[in-house]
Amino acid sequence: AKALGRNNLQVFTEEMAAKAHEKLLRQEELREAIAHNEFFLHFQPQMNLASGRIFAAEALLRWQHPVHGVISPGAFIPLAEETGLIVPIGDWVLKTACRQCKAWQDAGLPSLIISVNVSARQFLERNWASRVAAVLAETGLEARYLELELTESLIMQDVPGAIATMHELEAIGVHLAIDDFGTGYSSLSALKRFPVQRLKIDRSFVEDIPLDADDKAITAAIISLAQNLGLRVIAEGVETEAQVEFLRQSGCDEIQGYFFSPPLVARDFETLLGQRRVH
Ligand code: C2E
Ligand code: CA
Ligand code: CA
Ligand code: CA
Repeated sequence: AKALGRNNLQVFTEEMAAKAHEKLLRQEELREAIAHNEFFLHFQPQMNLASGRIFAAEALLRWQHPVHGVISPGAFIPLAEETGLIVPIGDWVLKTACRQCKAWQDAGLPSLIISVNVSARQFLERNWASRVAAVLAETGLEARYLELELTESLIMQDVPGAIATMHELEAIGVHLAIDDFGTGYSSLSALKRFPVQRLKIDRSFVEDIPLDADDKAITAAIISLAQNLGLRVIAEGVETEAQVEFLRQSGCDEIQGYFFSPPLVARDFETLLGQRRVH
């Protein structure tokens, strides 16, 4: 039994060493990905339910890996966050998204808001609001066309610090939204103190509509909460006509999801926008 124990331990440590090695490799690849320009963005339109118009696009990060092909953010953002690489990567996302939004405006396409996801590591950096201001100045995008998506868990890591940064961003004129709303632990009294303009109802509530009565109740409650607080509200992950109907009846302002369009590369997004140009 003793020998077996030792063998198991050996296998265990070898496995751990292999895992650690693999992680180092992936970290190195991630570092190189920035230098080698392997990141690109997808854009998913957000539609106003009343007008049927596209008014915004969420920028979603993708990694064109030289061997493994296109990798989704879920597969590398946790490592990027752990290693702090999310800071330079997030900087790249912000700059690229702002530059793209400005390019669409300059090309005469209808003016949109560009929505950018922000991770805690970035947001809680000192002077982050002035970094954002610098990116806006550099790209020439007006602040009112930029929206930053923050999660409740990001805010809850340092509530006073987050609120201070939110006020700095508000002063610049940048819009703020709370992403994945309903999955975190921000209290309703805290929500009142956040200078945000929009709530994004998490996909987990939307996906089981109309079958799940609880999810319907939660979704309707978030919509009326937003209305009572004077916030706009968007449902994400909307895939079916039945979901659209329920959201419309519940007074939801906006939708995002496969029902309307998946995230698209810039060219395809332009085509979609061009087709919907107001004549
Ligand atoms: P998220 O911010 O909640 O983004 C929405 C996710 O839902 C995206 O996944 C999008 O492709 C997917 N989605 C959109 N419509 C539908 C639908 O109708 N059905 C379903 N099942 N899914 C839909 P994606 O692009 O894989 O991104 C996953 C997460 O990675 C994002 O979740 C966000 O938390 C994070 N992320 C993406 N880009 C960035 C970034 O630039 N910076 C940071 N920090 N995080 C990012
Ligand atoms: Ca988001
Ligand atoms: Ca979300
Ligand atoms: Ca659910």
